[in-house]
Amino acid sequence: MIPIAMPLLAEEEADAARAAVLSGWVSQGPQVAAFEREFAAFVGAPFACAVSNCTTALQLALAALDVGPGDEVITASHSFIATANSIRNQGAVPIFVDVDPETYNIDPRRLADAITPRTRAIIAVHQMGMPCDLAALTAVADRHGITLIEDAACAAGSEIQIKGNWERIGKPHGRIACFSFHPRKVITTGEGGMLTTADAELDRKFRLLRQHGMSVPDTVRHGSSQVIFEEYLVSGYNYRMTDMQAAIGRKQLERLPELVARRRAVAARYAELLGNLEGLRLPAEPKWARSNWQSYCVRLPNGLDQRSVMQNLLDQGIATRRGIMCSHREPPYAMAARLHDLRHSELSQDRSILLPIYAQMSEDDQARVADALMEELRPRVQSVIAV
Ligand SMILES: *Cc1c(COP(=O)(O)O)cnc(C)c1O
Repeated sequence: MIPIAMPLLAEEEADAARAAVLSGWVSQGPQVAAFEREFAAFVGAPFACAVSNCTTALQLALAALDVGPGDEVITASHSFIATANSIRNQGAVPIFVDVDPETYNIDPRRLADAITPRTRAIIAVHQMGMPCDLAALTAVADRHGITLIEDAACAAGSEIQIKGNWERIGKPHGRIACFSFHPRKVITTGEGGMLTTADAELDRKFRLLRQHGMSVPDTVRHGSSQVIFEEYLVSGYNYRMTDMQAAIGRKQLERLPELVARRRAVAARYAELLGNLEGLRLPAEPKWARSNWQSYCVRLPNGLDQRSVMQNLLDQGIATRRGIMCSHREPPYAMAARLHDLRHSELSQDRSILLPIYAQMSEDDQARVADALMEELRPRVQSVIAV
């Protein structure tokens, strides 16, 4: 069986988790602090704050900006549903804007129509690791005085060229970027998330809110020779990462450049193997973007049934997934007013499939995927042409 994705975890991660367990400190502690320092340095952000997952990271981002009931947040429907849920969980209303069919990312040209006096923030998703057009997005956000949050759940290790320099996603472009370390992403801690920002005050709020609004963290109280009574300054949450997770995350972060390099090689090989297939549209990077290729999404030619292509591949032991879902088609968001045309979002979900991609994928397995897909496409494309 060729899986859709596979984390790369080995002895180093197992040893790190074991050492954390044996240290006796297993909740948020020194490993979390070290992971935050190392992640901040890696992406080039002044501050990084670790949390339990990316959904809670997005919620903390909104909470720290005081986004709540009565506020609107613009985002893509064409995203994992956690993006929309994070907005609704804060009591705000998600306003869905269509994506650019070339990159599957929110289309900056469509933002202006969606902005109202209630708009407080834009959550732009770097979908499947492909960087959004941050230059265009920040220009719109700045012009309207709206905060840009980056849903970088899939984008650890992706890069974008800003004013001639290649920079990692997470270096503050928007006000806040939120990452996920779920096993479907490029590096994993089982569950985990991270917020990066250049704003010291926001970072302070993230730290307060992730830990019950507690004035003095337990790590500080444990190290103190004085008795300290903590206070609970605001109503907060328990969104902490554990030290076992952070210990694993530090090892994963060491591997990240290598993991991205290998994924980029797999993506380049797919482009070679599939490049000549009539009607199949391969994903492409804008010239200012370098994807970590968290997913590899191809658009099927018209006339091919997505589900049967996927079933035929599955019958040959090849797992695929359909294109990224649209939140507005799921029950919790079905009632959300369809203010904006979401045609490209729907087409992307219905006409695309995600192919297996992971750092340790062998050339043989990739050739098997390409052959099976070619088998699906060739006869039918020819018969479509013949008609
Ligand atoms: C995976 C994902 C999330 C949620 O991340 P978790 O860490 O699982 O909470 C949010 N947004 C996008 C775009 C994702 O792909």
